[in-house]
Amino acid sequence: MAGNQRLNIAVLAGDGIGPEVTGPCLEVVQAAVAGTGLEVDFRESEAGVGCYRRHGDALPAATLDAARAADAVLLAAMGDPSIRYPDGTEIAPQIDLRFDLGLYAGVRPVRSVPGLPSALADPRANALDFVIIRESTEGLFASHGRGEVIDDQEARETLVITRATSERLFDFAFALATRRSEAGRPGQVTCVDKANVFRAFAFFRKVFDERAVNHTAVAADHAYVDAVALDLVRRPWRFDVMVTENMFGDILSDLGAGLIGGMGMAPSADIGDDHAVFQPCHGSAPDIAGQGKANPTAMFLSAAMMLDWLALRHELPAAKRAAGRIRGAVDRAFGGGRLLPTELGGDAGTTRITEAVLATIGEVEVVDTVAI
Ligand code: ATP
Repeated sequence: MAGNQRLNIAVLAGDGIGPEVTGPCLEVVQAAVAGTGLEVDFRESEAGVGCYRRHGDALPAATLDAARAADAVLLAAMGDPSIRYPDGTEIAPQIDLRFDLGLYAGVRPVRSVPGLPSALADPRANALDFVIIRESTEGLFASHGRGEVIDDQEARETLVITRATSERLFDFAFALATRRSEAGRPGQVTCVDKANVFRAFAFFRKVFDERAVNHTAVAADHAYVDAVALDLVRRPWRFDVMVTENMFGDILSDLGAGLIGGMGMAPSADIGDDHAVFQPCHGSAPDIAGQGKANPTAMFLSAAMMLDWLALRHELPAAKRAAGRIRGAVDRAFGGGRLLPTELGGDAGTTRITEAVLATIGEVEVVDTVAI
C-alpha cells in the first residue's frame, strides 16, 4: 500500500462485455469509498484478445509488472472464441495471470441476492450462502498450453496435484471456514474430489485430512464431485465451504452461478500469498457484447470482495465498510423484485442496474458476508 489509506488498483478491462462492466464498477467503488477516508487510484492496463491483435501479446510484460506492483487487480473479462492461438486454444491471459502471480485459491461465493427468482422451487434456495474454493494454478489446468494430439489419433492432458499447493489451499479453506463459523455460519469444509477412481484425488484427499487435523474448530468432510453436482441442485443449502481441484471448481462454480441468478450475479477472487485478482465468474460474453445487456453486478460484487481482502490484509475497516456498502446497495437494487436482469428474461441491462446500485450506495445498511 502506498501511504496511509490510499489503494493502488490495477484495472484490466479486457474484451467483450469487460469494458462495459468496468466503467460502472469503478464508479460504484468510488461511490462506496466516498467519505470513508479511503482513496482508490485505478490504473488501467492492456490485456486480452484486443491487446493480442494490436501488439501480438495478450499479457504484455508492462501489464504483468503493473499487476505485481498494485495492491490488488480488478479484472473484467477476456477472450473471444473467434480469435485463437495457432494451436486452436482460446486466448486466456486471465488464466496465465493466475499462474504468474501464484493465485492458488479461486474463491467463488454463492450468495443469494434477495428479490431475484431462484432456479430452484424450494424456498431454502432463496437464502443460499456458501463458498466454492477452486484451486487455480494446477489440477487439469496445469496442462494449459501443453496438451498434445498425437498423429490425429490420441490426445493427452496431464493433471497435476502437488502437496505444497494443496496444503496452502486447504489451510486457506479452513481459515475461511473458521472466520465464517465465528460470524455464525456453520464452519464446515467439504473436500470435493474423485478419490474413489483416481490416485491424484486420493492424494488430494489425504493431504486434506492431514491439514484438517490442525483445524479442529471447524468440521471437515468429503464428497465425490458427481454427488456434489447432484446435491447442488437437490439441497445446496447443505454446503458451507467447498474446496476442490481446478477443473471441478470451474464447472461447479458455473452451476453455483446458475443457482443465484446467472453469470452476471457471480463474483470471484483468485488469491495467492502475495497478490490477488478480482474478477466476475463470467467470460467476455461475445453474444451480448455491445448491446447494453450485460449485468454488471458480478463485477460490483467482485470489487466488494477486493475491498474485503484489502481490509483483512491491511486492517482497513474503511475498506470493509465500503465492501458492505456495495453489497447493501446491490441487495437494495434487486430487493422486492425491482430489477430483473436480461439474463433471466427481464429488461434490466447495464445502465439500469448501475443506476439502481448507485442510487442508494451511501445510504444503505452495510451487508457483511464472510467470503474472504
Ligand atoms: P469463459 O470460458 O471465458 O468463462 P464462457 O464460455 O463460460 O466464458 P461467458 O462469457 O461467461 O461464457 O457467457 C456464458 C453465458 O452467460 C452467455 O450466454 C452470456 O451471454 C451470459 N453472460 C455472461 N456474463 C453475463 C453478464 N454479465 N450479464 C448477462 N449475461 C451474461
